[in-house]
Amino acid sequence: MIERETHTYDVVVIGAGGAGLRAAIEASGNGAKTALVCKSLLGKAHTVMAEGGIAAAMGNVYAEDNWKVHFRDTMRGGKFLNNWRMAQLHAQEAPERVWELENWGALFDRTPDGRILQRDFGGHRYARLAHVGDRTGLEMIRTLQQNLVGVGQVDVFMECTMVELLRDDSGAVCGAFGYWRPTGEFISFACKAVVMATGGIGRAWKVTSNSWEYSGDGHAMALRAGAELIDMEFIQFHPTGMVWPPSVRGLLVTESVRGDGGVLKNKFGDRFMFNYVPDLFRKETAETEEEADRWYKDHSAARRTPDLLPRDEVARAINSEVKAGRGTPHGGVFLDVSSRLPADVIRRRLPSMYHQFLELADVDITKEPMEIGPTCHYTMGGIRAEAETEAATIPGLFACGESAGGMHGANRLGGNSLSDLLVFGKRAGEAAAQYAAGTSGAPSVPETQVTDAVRGVLGPFERVEGENPYVVLQDLQEMLHNLVGIIRTEGELKEALEMFHSLKDRASKVRVTGTRAYNPGWNTSIDLRNMLMVAEGCTKAALLRRESRGGHTRDDYPAPDPEFAKINHAVRYENGEVTVTATPLPQMPDDLRQIVEENPE
Ligand SMILES: Cc1cc2nc3c(=O)[nH]c(=O)nc-3n(C[C@H](O)[C@H](O)[C@H](O)COP(=O)(O)OP(=O)(O)OC[C@H]3O[C@@H](n4cnc5c(N)ncnc54)[C@H](O)[C@@H]3O)c2cc1C
Repeated sequence: MIERETHTYDVVVIGAGGAGLRAAIEASGNGAKTALVCKSLLGKAHTVMAEGGIAAAMGNVYAEDNWKVHFRDTMRGGKFLNNWRMAQLHAQEAPERVWELENWGALFDRTPDGRILQRDFGGHRYARLAHVGDRTGLEMIRTLQQNLVGVGQVDVFMECTMVELLRDDSGAVCGAFGYWRPTGEFISFACKAVVMATGGIGRAWKVTSNSWEYSGDGHAMALRAGAELIDMEFIQFHPTGMVWPPSVRGLLVTESVRGDGGVLKNKFGDRFMFNYVPDLFRKETAETEEEADRWYKDHSAARRTPDLLPRDEVARAINSEVKAGRGTPHGGVFLDVSSRLPADVIRRRLPSMYHQFLELADVDITKEPMEIGPTCHYTMGGIRAEAETEAATIPGLFACGESAGGMHGANRLGGNSLSDLLVFGKRAGEAAAQYAAGTSGAPSVPETQVTDAVRGVLGPFERVEGENPYVVLQDLQEMLHNLVGIIRTEGELKEALEMFHSLKDRASKVRVTGTRAYNPGWNTSIDLRNMLMVAEGCTKAALLRRESRGGHTRDDYPAPDPEFAKINHAVRYENGEVTVTATPLPQMPDDLRQIVEENPE
């Protein structure tokens, strides 16, 4: 037997962001002996970085808002590729989840009459984002962690990276294997159910708002265990990341800047978004600057500003302005809030943005505009999960949060992730606990799978020569940035697929030195395998989707194609190959179709 620490649980939740924390609270609350495992320190997940807020149709600012409008906005934003049932459950249950968070101690900003304040965000018809200044994720993580500790039944394993899922003879998930980052010692869990909540894969791209943790581990573990991913061609490039200085390129500039009144301008000072309004949103978008500015003051008096179109539309527009030579000195466009709001309001409403630009770029956003450009931000695709229970396509595996696919279709609306984590984290935790309760016998770990996993991860130490894994990672990031970025073509995608052959070969021969304790080179050699596998799925799916839709733009097929509106792409790992096939989109029932199609103007 491989020397290691072993544990047995009913449910193991991998990932301690908003989704994992919410799932662990629920699994434990439903009587399951639960472990929560995370790669970094507890509290340092991506969720803590979330700025703008949590989307939920509570109707606190606009009484007209309700779940149906939120559902409609989400489906339109996702270009109708979303799993409609997920979008429905999300819209219906998000308000309850936010009030629950408040009951657990979250202190949201307030309306004058004391209700939770909600702010505007792209693609949302009404001001809908519950927030805490521009530090909403911090409050969310703090509250969930406090509740988790209060519930007191969940064992936390932090700085512990999971590497493989383990499966029993019937093919059901029966555990997970990984290592402690501080020591490099191995650890395995025997369990009846695993909830995957590991987040996205944005670190594989060169310019990104994502942290080192986003290497698609959960996606890759699920693939290797036989589960299916969907919609992997849809990567969200957030329109507003910092472009200068180079050391912070890609760092997020929250959409709240535009939600609170900031506007986009090119180098001539033109508010160019008026030139990029697609037909789908024309009826509900302001035609003049005067109308857009009126909308900021009263949404019933005018139509919304095009600065707050969904992210895919705004990112493409910025890309076009820069390409046409109307960009800023550092290759972005301007985002101006200084001429729109008083300095004290900017400092109060956007404290993190104020400090971020002052400290990192020496720009005072109360006095001058910011320079911004698109940055890789969110993975719409993920582990295919069933809407009610988040059960993946193999028994014993559940998925929620950014590592799961379906909810956001081709493009996610801002604010819909934090609510997704709460709604589907709760559902996944509950379903995993119920599944575990219905599974008889004690789970055990198949030793041969552990031996194989150990052999896989220790290879880089045994080589006498080989490349540094960071070099291969940098080449992967550069390649994805150039060939599988915001605008794609068949030629470039094929070139990328060719390059995967050599990148995978190089990755299989990397060498690391030193011990396993806190060895970032070794950790990267493991993450690299995952990024390569998942990014190859993104590229293959992008090549097959010969149309432009949401977060996937093809220069050679610039329009949406109704035939592609009928399918999702499913990614699998079969016989050592990443494969992609088209699967039919589930039919939306008539009552929901009516909600989506009805035009309230
Ligand atoms: C700067 C920024 C601002 C954002 N602002 C907003 C916003 O205002 N509103 C909104 O709705 N969304 C926002 N988003 C998106 C949102 O924050 C994320 O989509 C969401 O937090 C993802 O949550 P999660 O629980 O799925 O994953 P995360 O919060 O990233 O958690 C992932 C967890 O998985 C763990 N993990 C990963 N791999 C492994 C492994 N192999 N083994 C063990 N553990 C592992 C990590 O350690 C971590 O604990 C923002 C994103 C960024 C980057």
